[in-house]
Parts: sequence; structure tokens; C-alpha cells
Amino acid sequence: MSNTRKTTDDVQSFKFDALGVIESPYQEKFAIPRQPNLVSAAKGKVVLVGDANNHELVRDIEQFSHLWLIFVFHGTQEQGWKPLVRPPRLGGNVKTGVLATRSTFRPNPIGMSVVKLDKVTTEKKQTILHISGLDLLNGTPIIDIKPYVPYSDAIIDADAGFAQKQPEEVLSVIFSEQMQAELIKYEQDDRNLALLIEQVLKQDPRPAYKRGKTDDKVYGMSLYDLNIQWQLIALDTVLVLNMTQITK
Ligand code: SAH
Repeated sequence: MSNTRKTTDDVQSFKFDALGVIESPYQEKFAIPRQPNLVSAAKGKVVLVGDANNHELVRDIEQFSHLWLIFVFHGTQEQGWKPLVRPPRLGGNVKTGVLATRSTFRPNPIGMSVVKLDKVTTEKKQTILHISGLDLLNGTPIIDIKPYVPYSDAIIDADAGFAQKQPEEVLSVIFSEQMQAELIKYEQDDRNLALLIEQVLKQDPRPAYKRGKTDDKVYGMSLYDLNIQWQLIALDTVLVLNMTQITK
């Protein structure tokens, strides 16, 4: 993979400052859904920063139920990019042009996600956009926010090749007794952990080549400050084993 881009002249090089930073339950890349809105229970925040932390910038934005977030793939940026990638939707072993995919390994590591805007708050001079359905790593730098405008942005009859349909929810998710006991401790919690864990695991976060194969590995994933262990107990069923608080 290549880290440096060769442009024809400096006029084609740009510098942007982040206008916000994401707070997300997803602390690592593993188990983040492959697109926004697949996991509606994922709640996050865009914390505006610097001179963009001014409530005037978002005046009237609450008229819009959904927003486009334009961001930097900061977690994979240093790994550079490649002209051909293997999209998980094609099973992870067919190569496709990077610009024909939503891969993170792009010439410019810029991503875009439509998320739901739940509310906007300004407290102690800090403006925050509260969002849900996000597919973003904690700490993701946001370089632009735009309202989602359905009459123009949603093209219902568009062709989308290998990504035409939402991935099927392949796995059913069950909780062990130990896990159920853990979840009771968090019942009053507004993070809705049981639903979040279920929606995340339903998507089958394992690498694409593992789908439909027996797999006795115990996986760990982190959501918020929790480490959650799970295992496939049938080709289509995940058992969530336990959950522990990550001590920092
Ligand atoms: N909706 C975006 C992202 C699609 S790729 C777009 O289409 O541009 C989705 C993957 O991006 C997720 O599975 C997650 O692993 C990865 N991701 C999310 N935030 C990231 C970040 N800040 N750095 C690197 N990878 C990130």
C-alpha cells in the first residue's frame, strides 16, 4: 500500500481542520457495522471544536432528521491506499477498483455517512449534535456536516451493483445466563446495551470469509467501556457469553 500521493502540482493539495470530533460506542474497528443505519441503537455525538464550536453554525439544523457527516478515516489513514480492494460484500476474495467501493483504503481517506440527528445541545459553551445509527470509530474527525435532503440525495431506483440490497441479517443472537445477569446491572442505563449488542452481532462482524463456516473461536469486542465475549454455537446463531468492564 502507498502512503504518499503524487499530485501534479501543489494547487491540487488542500488542508482542512476538523470541525468536530465523534464520540462513539465503537472503540475499535472490529464489529463496527459496514454502513450507517444498520445498527440504529448505536448512539453517538459530534462534539464541535475550535471556531466551529459556535451554536450559530447549526442554527435550524434540527429541521433535518438526518445529516451527512464527512470525515477522515483516521484509524486506517496511516496504512495508505490501494487501487484494488476486496469488498466484504463480494466475500472478501474478489478485487474491485477502490473508487467502486466504500473501502477505507482510498487515495484520500475521506468517508461519508448519513446518520439520524436526535437533538442539538449547547451547555457551558459546548455545542453537541446527538446522533444515532453511526458507523464511526470513537475519535473520528469530522470535516463537514450537511443536511440530508431526500428529494435529491435518495434515488430510489438507482442501481447499486454488488451492494444493491442491505446485507441480510444472517445471525440470531442469544444471551447466556451469565450475560443476562450482567445486563440486568445496566438496565437503567440509557445506552440500551442489549439491543446494541444484538444489532451489532446480527450483522456478523467476522471477516467475510468466515461466513457460513463452523467457527469455535471466542471473539471479544468492545463497546463503550465494555468488553463483550461471544461465540458461534451454530452456523446462524451467536451466543453472547459475558461482559466485563474495561479498566483503564
Ligand atoms: N459510511 C462510510 C464508511 C463505510 S466503511 C462511507 O461509506 O464512506 C465502514 C467502516 O469504516 C466500518 O466498518 C469501520 O470499520 C470503518 N471506520 C469507521 N470510522 C473509521 C475511522 N475513523 N477510521 C478508520 N476506519 C473507520
